[in-house]
Amino acid sequence: MRVVVIKGGGWSYATLPVEKGMVIELRGFLNDRKLLTHSYVEELEEGTRVRHCDGCGQDFVEELYQAHRARARHDLAGPVVVDGPQLKRPVSPPKVDLDPDKDSEWPLEPEGSPTVPTVEEEHPGGTRVRMGGS
Ligand SMILES: [Zn+2]
Repeated sequence: MRVVVIKGGGWSYATLPVEKGMVIELRGFLNDRKLLTHSYVEELEEGTRVRHCDGCGQDFVEELYQAHRARARHDLAGPVVVDGPQLKRPVSPPKVDLDPDKDSEWPLEPEGSPTVPTVEEEHPGGTRVRMGGS
């Protein structure tokens, strides 16, 4: 049975530390029923939107997924894994915008843009530093 963690923090399921909003599969342990009767978890309702977190490999209900990402800070733990189409634009060396016309070399691809924040230093001398994606 797939369930959603209602009471998060301070307990684990089969050595897996859980948190509020995490979707887990009950495996038929003796205590499974207690988890339900004491409202540690509740059955995942059909049609509930679930998001997979690449950072820890766990599933979360949509409404609490962002909160999980903000709290877990997987982006600080290591390289961010980005799925989907790859950027054709080279990642390095860093682009220096001396000639605005050069932009046409690498057409922007809004569809394939990564959702991770980017840091772009436009001038090594340090006149302008822009953070964040489009
Ligand atoms: Zn995660």
